[in-house]
Amino acid sequence: MTKSEFQSSRRRALKILGTGTIVAGMGASIRAQTTSSPALMMDGHVHITNRVYWEKADLWQPSDAGWDYARARRSGVNCIIDNLGTYGAWNYNYTPKQLLRLIETAYRYSEQHADKMTIVTSTAEARRVIASSRMAVFLGCESGWDHEGDLDVLGALYRLGLRSVQFATQSGFNAFADSALARSQGGQKPDYYNGLNDRGRALVAEMNRLGILIDITHGTEATQAQLIEASRVPVVASHEAIKAVSGVGISDDILKALARKGGIVGIHGAAMLVGKRYRNWTAEHREKAADAAKSTPNMVGYQPNFPRNPGDRGEYIERFDKEFGDIWRSRAAWKEMTEREPLVPTANEWAEHVDYVIRTVGADHVAIGLDLAGARSAVPMNSGGYGDIVAALRRITTAENVRKITGENWFRVLDTAKA
Ligand SMILES: [Zn+2]
Repeated sequence: MTKSEFQSSRRRALKILGTGTIVAGMGASIRAQTTSSPALMMDGHVHITNRVYWEKADLWQPSDAGWDYARARRSGVNCIIDNLGTYGAWNYNYTPKQLLRLIETAYRYSEQHADKMTIVTSTAEARRVIASSRMAVFLGCESGWDHEGDLDVLGALYRLGLRSVQFATQSGFNAFADSALARSQGGQKPDYYNGLNDRGRALVAEMNRLGILIDITHGTEATQAQLIEASRVPVVASHEAIKAVSGVGISDDILKALARKGGIVGIHGAAMLVGKRYRNWTAEHREKAADAAKSTPNMVGYQPNFPRNPGDRGEYIERFDKEFGDIWRSRAAWKEMTEREPLVPTANEWAEHVDYVIRTVGADHVAIGLDLAGARSAVPMNSGGYGDIVAALRRITTAENVRKITGENWFRVLDTAKA
């Protein structure tokens, strides 16, 4: 078989495998929806284990806010990268501990629901899981794995299944790279190193050697440019808006450099990033919007206001868990302002970002990275809305491009992450 014959017969086989078992056990409406979903439907930036850990939630049950497996599966999703977020644990370097807790939670939860999901470490494994009508879950991390950048810690995390790492820390600069959010979240200089330092470059080489996908999101523009340059393989911006479209997000320069290297950008779903009308209204009503946001504490930039004392025997972490857990759970109370509700972007507005990437660098370089983290408006509002996203994509581009954007582009970069 030629390569394209092989690919199209593989596609047909996947389509049959992906829908066959579902058809056997479910009603006509679900069958119809699943049949019209792409064979591979992947969101590369999801947060779910954090919710299982802090909310003790069973997210195979539909939940009103944020992202849950139940609605996602029903709307066609069969593969994700779950971004384990170590927010708040950064300043005393409790990050590796927090990440280990989340990895353990992810495996335990996956084992409890083994009939519906499996944690995977390669695309071959993911295709087998998808063919058995289960959800394939890659593990990634956001906001740090070890802020000192220890190579042995990185190696151990790889062995535990970590396959994607957001290089710059979300809450401030770490020991090896600047963060675009350093000032807003950590009160720090955003240009401490003017990008990466030597340790950062050594880490890029090690991630390339191991096959850990490098995510440039939340790096400063200099960090992003230097990561693209230093990596020997394609890198990703897992969840970003396009600056040329909405005024915030990835710049044209970075987009072009990312694409030249073979990388992809996953388009964000947050209203505040992708929605022009929503952003304009918020800019015009800054005080009102800030006031409404007050009831939701910021878990990303959380810093304990108590020290870890010498001789601590667990008191610090006990207090941290209580305080951070309360902040996390309080996010559930968030509500959109009535006046701003009609301005929440539509799936078509979301697709404008995709369209811009296709026209600027081509359809091989764009994918889905919605980051439906809850406590804010987004498109779609929850994980039941992937059908709207796919329909919007079908309105702007070809079936072949939709196939790439809804998953094959993510698989390509996962396949080439190892140098
Ligand atoms: Zn993020």
